[in-house]
Amino acid sequence: MKKNHFLCLLAVVLMSSLSQGQKRKNDPIVSQAAPIAMAPKLVVGIVVDQMRYDYLTRFWDQYGDDGFKRLVGEGFNCKNHHYNYAPTSTGPGHASVFTGTTPATHGVIGNNWFDKQTGKDVYCAGDDNYTSVGSSSDAGQMSPHRMRTTTVTDELRLHTQKRGKVIGIALKDRGAILPAGHTANAAYWFEGGTLGKWITSSYYMEALPQWVVDFNNSGQADAYKKPWNTLRPVHTYAESGTDANAYEGMFKGETTSAFPHDLPQLWEGNGHYEILKTTPYGNSLTLDFALAAVEAEELGKDLITDFLTLSFSSTDYVGHFFGVNSKEIEDTYIRLDLELARLLGTLDEKVGKGEYTIFLTADHAALDVPAYLKDSKIPAGYLDMKGIRERFAGYLQYKFGTTDVVRSHSNGQIFLDHKILANLDIDIQEAQEDIARELLDYPGIGQTYTAHQMWSTDFTQGIPYLLQKGYNQKRSGDVLTVPDPAFVSSGTTGSTHGSAQIYDTHVPLLLFGKGIKQGSTVHRTEIPDIAPTISVLLGIAFPNGTIGKPIAEVLEFK
Ligand SMILES: [Zn+2]
Repeated sequence: MKKNHFLCLLAVVLMSSLSQGQKRKNDPIVSQAAPIAMAPKLVVGIVVDQMRYDYLTRFWDQYGDDGFKRLVGEGFNCKNHHYNYAPTSTGPGHASVFTGTTPATHGVIGNNWFDKQTGKDVYCAGDDNYTSVGSSSDAGQMSPHRMRTTTVTDELRLHTQKRGKVIGIALKDRGAILPAGHTANAAYWFEGGTLGKWITSSYYMEALPQWVVDFNNSGQADAYKKPWNTLRPVHTYAESGTDANAYEGMFKGETTSAFPHDLPQLWEGNGHYEILKTTPYGNSLTLDFALAAVEAEELGKDLITDFLTLSFSSTDYVGHFFGVNSKEIEDTYIRLDLELARLLGTLDEKVGKGEYTIFLTADHAALDVPAYLKDSKIPAGYLDMKGIRERFAGYLQYKFGTTDVVRSHSNGQIFLDHKILANLDIDIQEAQEDIARELLDYPGIGQTYTAHQMWSTDFTQGIPYLLQKGYNQKRSGDVLTVPDPAFVSSGTTGSTHGSAQIYDTHVPLLLFGKGIKQGSTVHRTEIPDIAPTISVLLGIAFPNGTIGKPIAEVLEFK
């Protein structure tokens, strides 16, 4: 923006100088200087929830020319892009993409966590200081207040004196709220259940804008209450496992996990509009709404950069329910590819080819269904959480005389009661070490670390490096546990994520459009690199907790 104004001003000055008869030929500032920034009219930051990097390659032959293939072909593909911390889950993922830092700094240490100050479990985007807008439920009692640093979207707002618009959209509240930052004009998410409408929080506004009301009344969500069958004949989906198998979940009322999934029939037994989330229709509805926002909010219409954050949540719901290797996930990505083509086509038309910039990444990847891996002779399995809890309680009783020394646990971390330990005259560091040693003995637990280690050692590689980047001194626990690779504590159908293992960290990063080179790299890049890269492109300040580095090779200018 600034640069454009500057050039316009310069041109005016030069022209007036020339008209006054002064010779100013070949002015070096105009003809030779590298641009200071290449701010597009619109940035669209896309997060595909639970997208593994290999979904690009595995389904490549199924994709059309105008979606993923256009982003890769005309843009830049970072093939070795990773989360550099754990836990790899949705809240921390969305926060890290847009803040350029990790939970150690931005403080979003999980989707939910035990809050040491209040002794309560908290939700990453929950905030009961605000009320729902567009709903009578508590689904709108949200804000980004638990994210302690600024986002690239915040910095854009500050840089443009709040003239650049920022809007966040996702089915999931946290997928809309955290990327849009603290200063966003709006964040919208979808309340399923019997409502089936896009809502927001009084943090942003007192009433929904008319275009949102109109969209909600348009019947667009109801249009997706139709059977879900594969887009193409199911036998052509050679890149996934058999349609009916024991590794997939079934909707209530289904007797097989195979296609078709008859939504009208399953509607009432599966939470009404809620079921849309676990189908590719949830992504389509998200894009319908996002395009309505582009139109009504006139995003990318003037020279001041606007920023749309768009998170596709259904990929995660489908992955959790049916698994990484399912026909359902393949169909979901084939359809997402078409939605990306629809997005790009619309932006070409409304904003202009070459006038906008897109990046696409994920908030985490996912593990194949452990039961399937196990049946394929790969070491994998499920933690016996009931057994672990009983054995651990017995140990605490024996060692400390009470189980009360443990206050809570979340995200694989144990939170100790420092007051009780002090009363028992037990050194906290010793207690941490004793417990870490005990838990290491349990089947399925591969590594354990103490908070003391996180405080006192600078880890530079491997799992402890990722744990440390996810470790927030004010918020994280006393003992950290790491399951063996491909061991999880969830049910035996569907995929999950959250670990520091590479199957959860390896995600795509595609950049495309104004200011972005065509090309690819296999050099390791990390999630916190995205925000400073976009900041350089826009010529704005880096988010205030940034630890990532701009990825120089993707930028058309240096
Ligand atoms: Zn998930």
